[in-house]
Amino acid sequence: MMHANEYIESLFSFINNSPTPFHAAANGAALLSANGFQRLRETDRWSNLSSGAYYVLRNDASLIAFSLNDRLQQGLPLRMAGAHTDSPGLKVKPNPLQQRQGCVQMGVEVYGGALLAPWFDRDLSLAGRVSWRCRDGHLHCGLIDCKRPVAIIPSLAIHLDREVNSKRSIDKQTDLIPLLMLSNEKASPDFKKLLIDQLVADNPNASEAEVLDFDLFLYDTQPLAQTGWHNEFITGARLDNLLSCHALLHALIRSDNRHNSLIVLNDHEEVGSVSTAGAQGPFLKDILERLIPDPVVRRQTLAGSLFISVDNAHAVHPNFIGKHDPEHLPLLNHGPVVKTNANQRYATNGLTASLFRLFCQRAEIPCQQFVMRNDLACGSTIGPLTAAELGVPTVDIGIPQLAMHSIRETAGRLDGWYLLRVMTAIFAAGDDALRCPEVGLP
Ligand SMILES: [Zn+2]
Repeated sequence: MMHANEYIESLFSFINNSPTPFHAAANGAALLSANGFQRLRETDRWSNLSSGAYYVLRNDASLIAFSLNDRLQQGLPLRMAGAHTDSPGLKVKPNPLQQRQGCVQMGVEVYGGALLAPWFDRDLSLAGRVSWRCRDGHLHCGLIDCKRPVAIIPSLAIHLDREVNSKRSIDKQTDLIPLLMLSNEKASPDFKKLLIDQLVADNPNASEAEVLDFDLFLYDTQPLAQTGWHNEFITGARLDNLLSCHALLHALIRSDNRHNSLIVLNDHEEVGSVSTAGAQGPFLKDILERLIPDPVVRRQTLAGSLFISVDNAHAVHPNFIGKHDPEHLPLLNHGPVVKTNANQRYATNGLTASLFRLFCQRAEIPCQQFVMRNDLACGSTIGPLTAAELGVPTVDIGIPQLAMHSIRETAGRLDGWYLLRVMTAIFAAGDDALRCPEVGLP
C-alpha cells in the first residue's frame, strides 16, 4: 500500500498530466501496462482469455480494465467499480478563430455544467486529440498538450461595469471568447496550421501532416497544490472525477487476480453519458458479454456482484450551510460519502450502503452520508445508469469536495487516501463479503 505522501505525489502527477479525458485514459493505460496489464482491442477476437490482467479503450477516452482468474465462467461475483474521465470545461469550436480589433480570439463551446466565472483571468493551455492526413494519404491521430499558457479570457474592468459584483451574468456566446494572440493581418490565421508545431513536437510521425480535425479543450495551467495552514486541503482542476479514476486504477493494480475485479472509467458523464463510450452506452455490457459469453452465467455473476460508482460529493460549504440537509453535512477529511436519493438519482440502497460501510470498517477509515435537501434538485452520476443497464447491486459513493465544476476545486488531503484504502479492501474481498443478504421468507 502506498504511503499517504506518496499517494499525494502520485495523484498530483496523474491529474496534472491528464488535462483531457484522452490524456486520462492514456495515462491510465500506461500505468496499467507498466503493471503487467495487457491491452486488448475490440476489433480483435479474444479467444479464451487466460487468467491475468487486461484493459480495453474505447474512443481513446473511456477505459475498462480487469483482473481475472481461471474461475470467471463459474458465475462467481465480480468486484466492479466505475468513475468518469471527463470534467466540465471549454471545448474548441470547429472553425474557432475570429479577428476583432487586432485580437485573434478562439471560439469555444461550454462542455457540461461548468462554473464559468472562475475561467476568467486564468492562464489557459490547450490539449486534446488531433487527427491528420500523412504524406502517404493515411489518417492518423494522436494527443497534443501545449503545457504552456496560450490563451486567456480577460475580465471586463470594474470601471466599465460598476454593478458587476452584485449583478453579473455571463453570456456563453459573447463574453467567454478566449484571447489567443495579437495580429496586424487582415484575415485570421488558419487554426489547423497553427497546430502543426505542437502536433509534431508531441507526435514525431506527424511531420508534413495536414490536420483534418480535432477534439481540443482549454485547461488551467496552474498545477494542483496542497493548501491550508496545515496543508489540509488539495486544490486543482478535475478533482471531479480524476481523483476517483486514480484511486480505482491503483486499487485494481494492487489486487492480485485471486478474485475477479473490473473497473470502468467512462467519458461523457458530464454531458449525460449517452454516447458509444459513456455509461449509458453499451461499452461495459459489450465487454462483459465477451468476458462471460454464456448469458445465464453472466446473469448469475452480475446478480451476486457489487458495483461501486465513485464520483465526488458535495462537502458542506461553511459560507452556505443552508444548502445542505442539516442532518447530512459531509465534511472534508472525514472519509468517503455514501450518496442516497429516494427517487433513484443515486443507485444506493440500504443493503449496498451497508456493504460499503462494512468495507470502510475493515479498512479502518471513516465514512459519511449525503442526501440532497428536498427543496433542491439532486444531481446524478454513472451509478443509476450502470445499475439499470446491468441489473447489478450498486452503491454510489465519493469523496467530499467544495467548488464542484470550478476550474479549481477543493478537497481534503486525506479523503482520496481513504478512498484508495477502501477500494483496495473491496478488490481483495472474498465472495461472501460482496454478496447482499436476502430477507428470509416464511
Ligand atoms: Zn463527477
